[in-house]
This record gives sequence, structure tokens and C-alpha cells, in this order.
Amino acid sequence: MAQLIDGRSISDKIKNNVKIEVENLKKSGIGVCLAVVLVGNDPASKIYVKNKRIACEKVGIVSKEIVLDEKISESELLSVISNLNTDSKINGILVQLPLPKHLNETKVINSIDPLKDVDAFCPVNVGKIMIGKCDFLPCTPAGVLDLIDSTGVSVCGKNCVVIGRSNIVGKPMAMLLLNRSGTVTVCHSRTKDLKSFTQNADILISAVGISKFVKADMVKPGAIVIDVGINRGENGQICGDVDFEGVKEVAGYITPVPGGVGPMTIAKLMENALKAAKIQFES
Ligand code: NAD
Repeated sequence: MAQLIDGRSISDKIKNNVKIEVENLKKSGIGVCLAVVLVGNDPASKIYVKNKRIACEKVGIVSKEIVLDEKISESELLSVISNLNTDSKINGILVQLPLPKHLNETKVINSIDPLKDVDAFCPVNVGKIMIGKCDFLPCTPAGVLDLIDSTGVSVCGKNCVVIGRSNIVGKPMAMLLLNRSGTVTVCHSRTKDLKSFTQNADILISAVGISKFVKADMVKPGAIVIDVGINRGENGQICGDVDFEGVKEVAGYITPVPGGVGPMTIAKLMENALKAAKIQFES
């Protein structure tokens, strides 16, 4: 039976450390402020933004929410970001994705000052991840690394399989594991015989977005299984990509959904906002 990796308690520890550091900075007269830009009324995005605000409040980071009309033009949005870039009171900028269809997401993300890009999505930060010299680690993959570290198992030399190749999860995840000297395979929708790869994985990370996608017979006995997926199950409940009940009988370690990767993403965002403030203060 697999040991549960408790993302909630690990993320609480991270947030507590951030809180202490934010308090210390405040004593030196430095505040930490995260700007969150929300365009439109997407209900899921609203919930994500609210959760980020609550996390900021808990750790003492000032959260500045900028809610913009769904029909805002691209040039108007770029001008909002440009103002945030030059505002010395703003340390981190996050644009909640997805954006409405008429806005060019890449162009918008690329307009964020890399030193304030706490999601690490802009090309400068993505490039830095490639060479292992990043200011900010992308929040979800960085959270996954912490979950793996919590097991005490070293990534070095392990067979790591990432299912999913998105720019925000799969690709940076693979790069972070490679930077830790894992032997990394990225599988995706066009991969043939997926099981032949996953069965060899000492560390298996699923970021697909399909519930019960990873079944027990795909998992190597004793493997670390990290479930990044956030899906709706048959009864509308939140569930991951992994068939938890089956896989927990085979894996060595497993993350639950909810309570696994999700809380880590927010905790790592708080860490990045703090780091941004420190970098800006020191420069
Ligand atoms: P995405 O849709 O951009 O990417 C999904 C990936 O899955 C693609 O690369 C695709 O090639 C792969 N895929 C699809 N079908 C497949 C198949 N049959 N076999 C193998 N690979 C297949 O999604 P994303 O943004 O990377 O997110 C993935 C999941 O992670 C979603 O459920 C999302 O909600 C969740 N997510 C969670 C967090 C978190 O904080 N927990 C953060 C980001 C994303």
C-alpha cells in the first residue's frame, strides 16, 4: 500500500516560512505585493484568483486584484501590464489564464517584466529553466519537485516519466527533473504504447486532464506517482488523472486529489512573490 504524500501539510510549511520572511521584510520597511490580473468572468478563473488572494492574506503578501472587462482590447491590456511593470510597489504580476479568445495569450505573457513574472511563463524565464539558472521556478512543477523531495527519494538517476507536454506543466516539469539528473521521458497524446513507458517509471507524473487515466497496471511497483490532473469525476467531484484506489495498491508513494499538487502550486506562487520582492530590493 502506497504512502500518501500530503500536499496540504507540505504547502502549509512552505507558506509558514514565507510568512516569517514577509514579516521580517516588513520590519525593514519592505512590503511584498502581488498583482493578479483577471480578464472577464470565467467562473473557474474567479475561484483560482480568490484562492490566491486568500493565500496572500495568510502569508502577509498584499494582493492587488485588477479585474478587467471581458471585451478589453489587447492594447489596453498591454498598457495595464506595462503600468504594473513600472510600478515599484508591485513585486509580482500574474495574468490569470485562459484569456478571452480575442487576446493573444503569448503576447500578453511576454509583456510581463521577467523579474516580476512569478508564474515563470515568459520566454526569458522559460529559457532560464532550460539552462538551470532560473530566478523563478514555475509553480506547479516546482511544487511537484517538493512533493517528490518529501519522500526522501533522490531524482538523480531515476527513470522519470511525465505524461503531458504542455508549456505550463509537462515541458517545464521534464526540464526540472532533467536538471536534477533524472532520466526523463515525456509522453503525450501521440505516444505509442504508453504503458511500456509508464511501467518503467520510478517517478511517474501525470498531467493529462482525464480522470482515471493512469491505471494500476501502468505503474511500476513502489513508484512515486504524482497526480497533477484536476478533473470532474462521474459525480461531479474533483479528481485527478490517477485511478487512486487501484494505483495506491501498487505505488510506493502517491498524491491525492484534492490535497496533493493543487495546494503546492499556490504555496510556490507565494514563494515566488517573496523572491521577486527580494530580487527587486537587491537590484
Ligand atoms: P493540457 O491540456 O495543456 O495538456 C494535456 C497534455 O496531456 C497534452 O500535452 C497531451 O498531449 C496529453 N494527453 C492528452 N491525452 C493523452 C493521452 N491519451 N495519452 C497521453 N497523453 C495525453 O493541460 P495542462 O495545462 O498541462 O494540465 C493538465 C492537467 O493538470 C489538467 O487536468 C489541469 O487542470 C491540471 N493542472 C493542475 C494544476 C495544479 O495546480 N494542480 C496546475 C496546472 C494544471
